[in-house]
Order: sequence, then structure tokens, then C-alpha cells
Amino acid sequence: MELIGMTEMNSRLQVPCARPVEMGLEATRGASWMNTDQIRAAQPAQQPASHCSGLMQARHRMLATNQWTPSQFMGRRWPIGCVALEITQRCNLDCTACYLSENSELVKDLPLDEIFRRIEMIFAHYGPNTDVQVTGGDPTLRKRAELVEIVRRLRQKGMRPSLVTNGIRAKRDLLQELSQAGLVDVVFHVDMTQERKGFDSEMALNVIRQEYIERARGLRLSIMFNTTVFDGNFEEVPDIVAFFVRNADVVRFASFQLQADTGRGTLGQRDARLRISSLKQRIAVGARRTLSFDTAHIGHSDCNRYAMALVVNGRVYDALDDQSLFDRTLQQTAHLQFDRQSRFAAVMTLARGMLGSPSLALAAIVWLARKIWEAKTDIFLARGRVHKLSFFIHDFMDSCRLDSDRVDACVFSAMTASGPICMCLHNAKRDAFILEPVRSGGPIKERYWNPGSGNTTDRPERIFALDDPQRKDKPRGRGRLLQRRANAQPN
Ligand code: SF4
Repeated sequence: MELIGMTEMNSRLQVPCARPVEMGLEATRGASWMNTDQIRAAQPAQQPASHCSGLMQARHRMLATNQWTPSQFMGRRWPIGCVALEITQRCNLDCTACYLSENSELVKDLPLDEIFRRIEMIFAHYGPNTDVQVTGGDPTLRKRAELVEIVRRLRQKGMRPSLVTNGIRAKRDLLQELSQAGLVDVVFHVDMTQERKGFDSEMALNVIRQEYIERARGLRLSIMFNTTVFDGNFEEVPDIVAFFVRNADVVRFASFQLQADTGRGTLGQRDARLRISSLKQRIAVGARRTLSFDTAHIGHSDCNRYAMALVVNGRVYDALDDQSLFDRTLQQTAHLQFDRQSRFAAVMTLARGMLGSPSLALAAIVWLARKIWEAKTDIFLARGRVHKLSFFIHDFMDSCRLDSDRVDACVFSAMTASGPICMCLHNAKRDAFILEPVRSGGPIKERYWNPGSGNTTDRPERIFALDDPQRKDKPRGRGRLLQRRANAQPN
């Protein structure tokens, strides 16, 4: 095995991206595109002196990118929206919009100690109550006992773990065990980019969504769904939304992610009609109500949109239609933590927060009275049952079109061996992180874990990427498939 130094390792790794300037994109929308050298040079964030200064740093980032408004969550309620903790690079699906790298399947699962070290780093950066997505690949491919321990460790640190999974292996007994270990949310990713056999439309996939809902029903888990929106399902978005509305008694959160040209995905660049504005319209068609996606502000407005619906008797009502009330409520409750597993607890927290300001409480009562009047018939027919359903739009960037402002205002980090980094940036140079030897060992002797072999050695070993001509051993899994495909290509 060839041995190399870490710096050399990094410099050999490729950023799979042509310069935006070469692609004629400089004139687009006044964005400041990162070039290949900037992407290569970008490093994970330094650890802040304290959680409090982490919040202030987030606020400064919002100010610096002109995203600081009275409705901004980032830097006011949290120092980060969410951190992705990738516990495996393996997956049992091969989505056409996958953000993993062609080399991902070559990589062994990180040792549990390294995962625990990264959990400590997340805590050191962002503190308690941080939302951490336990993800991959598909995290359920990790040994079950390890997955449970990871969730338990996150919860013991006072953070909020979510499981992000395609659901294939997330059976009821596993969800039950994870829930007992402290899992807060389960996020099922289901859509047509996954090319599940026997399902030829999003409507057909509702059978799978329903099955997943039933697996998690009644557990102390907040149920969420991720949907990648691409050319092939854009017209079906209203049907997907209508499904979530019908199941609003258990589904809490529906996230729609616009297809991005990144990772090993094969879809390429998205169709021009796939935009935040057009997606908002498709969601409105499905909800049969225009929702206020511009009231709350989460990070950069070109990245994220959030709307909250109240579903009564199957009918949707807009919950964020009063900007002034929203802004004042956010100011008053920014320091509070809301329990996503108990609606009652969340409402009580909100009510307690509002009591600190009588004028705000009065404004909220007036708003509530207006909503009750608006929905009176449905409230009567539903015997008072009201469900909250949130919609989220996430517009990931193409790996070759990273807007530096959006990267600076990022609310979604991926944790690496040396700290958190913007997820779009991480996806654009994923190999630089996943193929890097991981330092381990005690204070006396440094050791290096090799992601290719899973062995630990005294010096870092070079990991041969799939397309490396010096690669001699046989790749695994999807890597083997790709290599066979590559070998079959005519010269
Ligand atoms: S991950 Fe990308 S799209 Fe998402 S908030 Fe960060 S920069 Fe924006």
C-alpha cells in the first residue's frame, strides 16, 4: 500500500467541477460563483469560543449576506439549522439525484469512536438542542447496535437526532428501539428518483409512504417526508401534497428538495421551470390554499422557504399570514425550545413565551379568533381537532454553481473530521472528506484509519479512487458495477 502525507492526499483529490466562468454563468443573477480553486481551498468552520459566540457568528453571517431580518431564525433562534452526521456512505438504492460520490461505495463505515468524536464536535460548535440528521448513504445499513448507540449518544448530549432513511430497513421494531434511545424525528425519503421497482408514479409511491406512516404511527416520533423534485415528478407535486394533507394527523413536516446537479446523480442540470416560485405554486395547488412561504426567513432566501399549515377536517389554513405577529413572536420566543414530539408541550411553550408580552398575547388572541372564525365549520366537523403540517422548500446548489453568499449563509452543515461545512460545498468536494485517512490513536502515537481498507496504520495510506489508473484491488458493490460499466465503454 502506498503511503502518503495528508497534504499530498488533499491536493490529489479532484473537485469534479468546471469553472463557472467557463460555463458562461458569471452573468447570472449577480451571484458570486465560487471557482474551482475556491471550492478546493474551502475548509470546515473553526470551533467558536462558546455556543453563545456561535450564535453571534451566525448572526454576523446573516448580516454580511444581507439575510438579517426580523423574521430570520438563523443567529436568533439557532447557530445552525441542522447538521448532517453521515454514519455510512453506503446505500441500498441508487437515486438518479444522489448526492453521494462515485467513490462512496468504496468507503468503509467510519469507526464508532470517530462518530462519537464528531458528535462531541457538533456539540462543541452548536451546543444542546442542535438538530442532527443521522444520515448516510442510508444509516440503517450501519450495524443496528451502533446506530442505536449513535442516536443514544446524541440524545445524551442534549441534541435532537433525526433518522433520514429511504425506509427500506426502517421497520417498526427498529423505529421503536431508536425512539426509546432518544430519536426525535424520522425522515422518510420517498420519490421517483429512487426508481423503486414496480412504482411508476408518485401516486403509486403513496402506498409506500402510507406503509412507512403506519410503521411509525403511535411512536413518540415526529414523522417527516423528503421529496426530491425533478422534471419527472414536478407535475405530481400537488398529488404528493394532497397525500400529506390527508395524513396530517401524523405527518408533521414535508420537505421538497429541488434536484441539484451534484454527486453521482445522473439527472444533470434541472429544467428551468424547477424553481422555488413554481414549486410554491404546485404546493398551493395540492394544498388548495396559497401558503405564506415568505413570512419566516431561514438562512438565505435563495436556499430555503418555510410555510406552516393548519389542517382542519382535511382543509388547509395558512398559519403564517401575519408578518408582524410572526416577527414579534419570534423575537419573544427565540430563546425557547419547542418539543416536536408533543404538540401540547409545544403549544404550552409558545403560550408561556407570549405571556411575557401582554400586547403580543393580545395580538395573538385576535389572530386566533380570526382563524377560528375562518375555519369554524371545519373545526365543528372535525370536533376541534387541528393538525399542524409544515412545508419546506430546499433549493440545493449544483456543485459547479456555488454562490459564495449562499454558502456563507448556509444553515445546513455536514460534519467532517475537522469540523462542519456547508452541505452544498461538502457535496461538491465530497471525496476530499470521505477518502481522507482519519487520524486516530492516543496522545503518544498517532494512527490513521484508512477508509478504503478499514485498517489502522502508523502512517496515512493513499486511498485509490475508482477512476485512479493505479487502482489494483477490486471495488465493492456499486463501485464494481460502475467499473464494469466503464470497462464496457468503447474507447
Ligand atoms: S446546504 Fe446549500 S442550499 Fe442548503 S442552506 Fe446550505 S448553501 Fe443553502
